[in-house]
Order: sequence, then structure tokens, then C-alpha cells
Amino acid sequence: MATSAKIKKTTTAAKSARKSTPQVAVASSDEHAHKFAPYHAAAGEEYMNAQQREHFRRILNQWKQDLMEEVDRTVHHMKDESANLPDPVDRATQEEEFSFELRTRDRERRLIKKIEEALESIGHQEYGYCETCGVEIGIRRLEARPTATLCIDCKTLDEIKEKQIKG
Ligand SMILES: [Zn+2]
Repeated sequence: MATSAKIKKTTTAAKSARKSTPQVAVASSDEHAHKFAPYHAAAGEEYMNAQQREHFRRILNQWKQDLMEEVDRTVHHMKDESANLPDPVDRATQEEEFSFELRTRDRERRLIKKIEEALESIGHQEYGYCETCGVEIGIRRLEARPTATLCIDCKTLDEIKEKQIKG
């Protein structure tokens, strides 16, 4: 099987679990950043100095690479498994699985785009500041959500507004 031949670089529990259950892969995509050692800022260290920018550049690049491998894996998996199954139940199951994988892939591609935007903003030295109010987003929040573009206050406000629009 092609799946067992895949090279496993990391040995975290989340990574090995995603091998058999595609649901885990979705959850672990967002939790990717937790694999990294948190940044320890020295007292009085300047926010988003070169060292901090490098820290986040590394996180984002690694995350992007993992996602791209994930996308590749999905494509290969679908090619491997797209057999003409005689049993309609099997066919339905396969279609369901494929549509799940397509949605996952779509989600991963959007995430990759957001990661690329974040990397770009590091290059412009704009990374880590709230797009709305300009305040520092904060290292801990960025480590939990490296593609965050809003501070927690603006994000919360945004969600409240969104709920009001939807009714
Ligand atoms: Zn803000």
C-alpha cells in the first residue's frame, strides 16, 4: 500500500494518529503550532525583533510544508483508491470519503494561502500587529494561531458583529 510507504518525519501522537483517521488530520492542522518550543523573550526584549520574526517564519514555513505534504498525500490516496467498486454501498462510502478529502484539501489550500500572507507580512515587518487597531497581537497568541491578523479584542468584537449580522 502506498500509505504505509509514506515517510514519517515526526513522531508526535497526533501525526501517527492521522495515518488511519482522516478526522484527526483536520484537527491537528490547527494545532500544528503546539509542536514548537514556545519563544522565551528576554526581559525588555523588543516585540517582533529579528529573532522573533525568525521564530515565526520557521513555524509558518514548517506548517506550510506539512500542509503541502498533506495535500499531496490526499491526491495520491484518491488516485490509489479510486477503483470501480461493484457494491453500491462501497461506492457510496468511497464517494463520501472522497468528498470529505476534497473538503479537507480545499481547507488546507486556503490555510496555505493564509500562511503565505503571514510570511509576506513578516517580510514587510508588519507581522504580529492587529490589522484593525494596530496593537501587538502577542507572542503567545501568535504561537497558538500563527496566522492571526487581529488582536483578541478585535477578534472578539468581529465575532459578535458577525453573529448580529447572521441574526
Ligand atoms: Zn485590535
